[in-house]
Formats: sequence, C-alpha cells, structure tokens
Amino acid sequence: MKLIFLGPPGAGKGTLAVRAVGILETARGAPHPHISTGAIFRAAIAAQSPLGLKVKAILDSGRLVDDQTTVDLVRERLGREDAREGYILDGFPRTIPQAEALAGFSPVDRVLNFDIPDESVLERLGGRRVCRACGHNFHMIFDRPKREGVCDHCGGEVYTRDDDRPEAVLKRLEVYRAQTAPLIDFYRVKGLLIDVDARPGVEQVVENFTKALGLPG
Ligand code: AMP
Repeated sequence: MKLIFLGPPGAGKGTLAVRAVGILETARGAPHPHISTGAIFRAAIAAQSPLGLKVKAILDSGRLVDDQTTVDLVRERLGREDAREGYILDGFPRTIPQAEALAGFSPVDRVLNFDIPDESVLERLGGRRVCRACGHNFHMIFDRPKREGVCDHCGGEVYTRDDDRPEAVLKRLEVYRAQTAPLIDFYRVKGLLIDVDARPGVEQVVENFTKALGLPG
C-alpha cells in the first residue's frame, strides 16, 4: 500500500509513520519503508555531503528545499526494491508540483490528512527532542528519555532540532499553510484523502487510521 502522511509540522506524522510500518508489514507481508524527506536532508547535513551543504541553511530557516532536488531524491528512493510493494511518505509531497511529479512516477493509494490546530503544534514542537543517531522522537512533557539527553533506544545524543526553535516553527507553519495545505484539496478531489483527527494520543490516532484504511488492528 502506497501512502502519503500529510499534515502540518508537529501533527505526529513521523511517530505515526513508524507505527504504520509495523502494521502494514504484518498485514501485507512485505516491506513498507518509512520515507521522510526531512530525515534524509538531516542525515545529509550530518554527513556534510554535497546535498547536506546545499540544504543546511534552508532547513535551519524553516523554508522548503527546491522541488527539483526533492523530487529527484524521492524518485531515486522509491525506485529501490524495498519500496516496490508500498511505502509511507512523510513530509513529501509538500507542494503541488511535487505532488504532480509523484503522480507521474508512483501514484499513491491513499493520503492521510492529519489535522491539528496551530496551538497544539506550538506545544508539541516546543517540547520535541530528537536522537541524532537513530532519529527517534521524544517529548519533554509527554515522552521524556529515561536519561536526560540520551536516547533510550540506541544511546545516541538527544537534541533539539534547529528548526524546532519558535521562530523557525512559525515560519514552517506559514510555509505549510501557503504551500502544502493546497494539497488537501488536490487529493480530496481525486478521492484519495482520508481526514484523521491528530489531537488524541498516539494509540487512538493509530486505531483510527488503521480502521479507515481497512487494515486489521
Ligand atoms: P520535516 O522533518 O518533514 O519537518 O522537514 C524538515 C525540513 O526539511 C523542512 O522544513 C524543509 O526545509 C525540508 N523538507 C522536508 N521535506 C521537504 C519537501 N518535500 N520539500 C521541500 N523541503 C522539504
């Protein structure tokens, strides 16, 4: 099953995508990689690769990387063997041109639109911490690491993303509204969109979208 997880920053797409991978792989008996363009860019920045050097200032500011660079990256990733039966796209597409490009090389089955008000986004992202090594998300109120600054899963360093600082969060929300929110209608008119209320806790949201996709819970 080929899925897009759509929604503003802080809707929980990354955490929910990790859960969806397990559910889909069990239901379908095939790999369904979680593909986060943001995580790919952050890994490139950490590795100081040419891509990382090109996109670092853009990510720090909360603006979007250009469509061509992003689409080329996703086209290459979706062409790999493990994405043949399905995948979860998290953070892509983020513009209409990206969505049109994707439709040309890998049409998706469903788009989950995770809906959440701006106040909740600010609260969630203000407390978010991320493991530099494995990318696991923590939250200083809802899900603290057992040891301050250390990942429970791999022992890596837990840090605050530069773009989770308040000024970058406001920019990311503004960019979301202007450039990404139009995708909601783009996919709705194609009959692909499923609205999911992202305000409840993770377990409830997982149950709701699992049902909506007709997957065994
Ligand atoms: P995320 O982890 O999805 O919040 O993405 C972090 C940052 O990576 C964004 O604020 C953008 O600067 C960049 N980025 C991620 N996905 C895309 C995309 N599909 N198009 C353009 N820029 C992106």
